[in-house]
Amino acid sequence: MNELENKINRWYPCKDEDGRVGNMVWLAKHWYRWITYGCPQCYVENCGCSPNNSNIHEPKGFAEIAKYAYDNYGDMYKK
Ligand SMILES: [Zn+2]
Repeated sequence: MNELENKINRWYPCKDEDGRVGNMVWLAKHWYRWITYGCPQCYVENCGCSPNNSNIHEPKGFAEIAKYAYDNYGDMYKK
């Protein structure tokens, strides 16, 4: 398991493989919304979220793990 996966498991502990993959898909969804709509929380452009809610870099390091999850587990979000 690589460093980023370890980090994800530390941030979002889960007890089995289904939970682990579920977390990955959840993270991938945030990255997908960020690169598609500019907000990790919404499926719409110009959603008007506060800068705190719409910042993929908050918490620090979230963007990195979200992108990793998208690249490796985000197939359903890729067209
Ligand atoms: Zn939003």
